[in-house]
Amino acid sequence: MKILSARAGDVLIGGGNPIVVQTMCNTHTSDVEATVAQCVRLSAAGAQMIRLTVPAPSDVECVKAIKSRLAGLGVTVPIVADIHFSSQTAILVAPHVEKVRINPGNFHRDHAKAREQFARLIEVCREHGTAIRIGINHGSLGEYITNLYGNSPEAMAKAAMEWLGMCIEARFFNVVVSLKSSNTIVMVDAYRKLAEMMEGCGYVFPLHLGVTEAGNGDSGRIKSCVGISSLLSEGIGDTVRVSLTEDPEAEIPVAEYLAARYDRKIVSSMTSVSVSGRRAVARYDSPSYETLLMDVSCDFGKRLLDKDLDEIAIEGTFLDKDGIEVDIAASGVGKYLSDELMQAARRRFYKPEYIACPGCGRTMYDLQAAFEEVKAKTSHLKGTVIAVMGCIVNGPGEMADADWGYVGEGNHKVTIYKGKTPVLRHVLDTEAVEKLVDLISASQSE
Ligand code: SF4
Repeated sequence: MKILSARAGDVLIGGGNPIVVQTMCNTHTSDVEATVAQCVRLSAAGAQMIRLTVPAPSDVECVKAIKSRLAGLGVTVPIVADIHFSSQTAILVAPHVEKVRINPGNFHRDHAKAREQFARLIEVCREHGTAIRIGINHGSLGEYITNLYGNSPEAMAKAAMEWLGMCIEARFFNVVVSLKSSNTIVMVDAYRKLAEMMEGCGYVFPLHLGVTEAGNGDSGRIKSCVGISSLLSEGIGDTVRVSLTEDPEAEIPVAEYLAARYDRKIVSSMTSVSVSGRRAVARYDSPSYETLLMDVSCDFGKRLLDKDLDEIAIEGTFLDKDGIEVDIAASGVGKYLSDELMQAARRRFYKPEYIACPGCGRTMYDLQAAFEEVKAKTSHLKGTVIAVMGCIVNGPGEMADADWGYVGEGNHKVTIYKGKTPVLRHVLDTEAVEKLVDLISASQSE
């Protein structure tokens, strides 16, 4: 069996190398100044790879300008071009970046043509030493694969195996794979299946882990930690991106924590745990709330996901921002974190489930503000799955199993979806949240 590694610039991914921390700019790539400034900040914050969206061939010149400006500033962080649909854009940008992220299944509706285009991209990447990430997301699988296997973790893994098979045939091994979902069960299941399939075929490619559209705040961090740590604890995963609907700098400390923990550089602040039946009582002595949140998520996420445990009680203390000791149980933090963990592991829903993309250079409105407004006005809709997506091009396809979707069109307009169906288009953003809540209420009283 071959354990493979990929190279993006000077960064090695997989093959026993340390876990790589990465993130993505949310600036418009055409705004070269803003993107350079954000890359500089992200690199200084610890990002070891940075992805930029490249929506069209016309953006390739901007990518070249960004790379050249960064080189002039001494910033050598590898740049990953994020491509949706257009093999032409992927082929044009590949010589100018360290890695391209594509889903070959979306290159063309005709599967044979998608294969041809992927084969061409492989040759360009081989010539220029560019790595490829085959990035497959639940909810945006190609028609060819969903017709065969449905919209399932198995379909995600099988889709990846088909493209990996082409790479193996072409003897092109500078490849990383991701199988992302906002649903932690689907995400973990898909990666486990892929890891098994790769072992079965004798070529183990590096894996990029992430819970996509995880949202923001504590919930986004807990969901990301639950999904990613479940896999890293099993030795699955080589690079991580924590997707948060926040400024991308905020993603880095969480990703760094995960990398350090599973590279065995830090340990949990849990001091004891007792398990009675399927209930665990865990005690912590945490240096901060943030550490407590990540420790608890990694200590128990996998056990809840895998249904080894049904309940978790969290006790002990953490230090608040002023260094004052807080009692976890008496302050209500223990109950709150336990509820959040149960929801992240999809064992019990105590509030609405939000799917929100992190935003990127395709976002044409204030996604973070809109998401906060949607959350504030829908907090009573326990169990309802609501997606808030940054663009009309990819948002509808990527909101997976959401009951309702709020998708920004740009120009202060929003489209509201019920499931996969647009039910109201071009709604003014000042009215969109109210209309969304009205629609949900009306459908619940039907
Ligand atoms: S759905 Fe969000 S993250 Fe994905 S391409 Fe659109 S704006 Fe970017």
